[in-house]
Amino acid sequence: MHKRIEKIEVFTFERQRKVAYLGDLGADEFALGEHHIVRRFNGTVYPRMDRSVVLRLTDSDGATGWGETYGLVAPGVVAALIEDLLGPYLKMLDPERPDAIWDKLYELQRVRGYWGGYLADTLAALDIALWDLFARSTGDSLQAALGKGGAGTIPAYVSGLPKPTKSERLELAQSWQSRGFDRVKIPVSDSDAGDVRGEFESLRNGLGDAARIAVDVHWTRTAEAAVALARDIAPFDPWFLEAPVAPEDIAAQRKVGQAISCPLALGEEWRTEWDYIPRDGAARIVQPEMGHTGITQFMRIAGRARTSGAEVIPHATIGMGIFMSASLRAGLAAGAEAHEFQHTIYGPNAALLEGAAPVEDGAFHIPDTPGHGITPNSDGMAHLTPLLSI
Ligand code: MG
Repeated sequence: MHKRIEKIEVFTFERQRKVAYLGDLGADEFALGEHHIVRRFNGTVYPRMDRSVVLRLTDSDGATGWGETYGLVAPGVVAALIEDLLGPYLKMLDPERPDAIWDKLYELQRVRGYWGGYLADTLAALDIALWDLFARSTGDSLQAALGKGGAGTIPAYVSGLPKPTKSERLELAQSWQSRGFDRVKIPVSDSDAGDVRGEFESLRNGLGDAARIAVDVHWTRTAEAAVALARDIAPFDPWFLEAPVAPEDIAAQRKVGQAISCPLALGEEWRTEWDYIPRDGAARIVQPEMGHTGITQFMRIAGRARTSGAEVIPHATIGMGIFMSASLRAGLAAGAEAHEFQHTIYGPNAALLEGAAPVEDGAFHIPDTPGHGITPNSDGMAHLTPLLSI
């Protein structure tokens, strides 16, 4: 059991990118200030750089645990919530299991309808750091603290093929395949003029029958259009269809899930099991995102999904990689069938961290080292700017 929390430090992690996530500014897209791009295809803001919020907890024995959450937009919100509310309360609480602490912190504002968004993201950062401390206090790995000790592997799927032409995208997929990575996901934006069928045809013909090829629809379709898209690509045996409709539209999600022949995948925007419950049975694959859920809610969502027969294939967002390591280990404990592999950042992140899991031969190789296994090294610390210390 970790000791009472004495110090909470919050940092922004920032790293410049040569090319923005999902590519450079396209036609009709625009920059929003110096940090952001608004994408035409789904109206969503994306960062020009890699940015997240990183958190370090220190207990009364001087032991430390690291957490991380989203910081794409307004990272100071996380620091403000910790300074004004969550930090002082966390320091008052007796040490106990991190999931019990998550419940206490959430309870502070649930009756006011603060059930998600930045509040839940802040809880996620604290929760990851608390689990890290909790597991390290007994020398256990996070997966052992969650009930499944030992090293293990999770198949990695290559996420995105950021090249300008269909033939170059196929070449990139084939280069990964030659290194043992036989699973790939393309966003709908990785296609020539929206020709998703043509993209699937190219990849299926070039990668062979055994390859798994998924598509992230990035919430861009109506239910009817999503069903039509699934029918269009059905001859090429898609692995799954991700996030086809507006994220709040549960009726549309259910409609698509019932109508299409390949599995529907949902969940990267969920924060808690309360997001999952009304969608129980809607998707055959759930994709919890550790940066939003933290470990406590990741495991609760995964547990509920398993009970309903769904697979667990966690999402991987862009950040420093602390939440990624927590996701791999929680994924191992939850028996995840695969995990997203952000191949443009995983390697550069690993260079900033001590303890990142190797990814080779098509899988993450997750060690049994204490906690979630990650601490920023000196290069990593150089990318952290202090936001708060209390
Ligand atoms: Mg997605």
